[in-house]
Amino acid sequence: MSSKRYAQVDKEYCVSCGTCTKACPLQAISVPDGISAVVELARCIGCGLCARECPASVIKVVTADV
Ligand code: SF4
Ligand code: SF4
Repeated sequence: MSSKRYAQVDKEYCVSCGTCTKACPLQAISVPDGISAVVELARCIGCGLCARECPASVIKVVTADV
């Protein structure tokens, strides 16, 4: 088992501004339904750039065993 860091979105409070999608260097986060951001876990490296740019502060980087 190893651990992985990735971004997690609190969808309830996402304002679907799209700022995170522009901040991510790996295109790992998108707003596919126009309502809330979704992270593609296989791409995300947990760098936290999206979290830093999110105006609603609804993204946090978490670590999980995978
Ligand atoms: S943590 Fe980094 S790689 Fe993951 S979605 Fe955010 S900006 Fe992209
Ligand atoms: S930057 Fe924050 S509020 Fe804007 S779409 Fe991304 S997660 Fe939602």
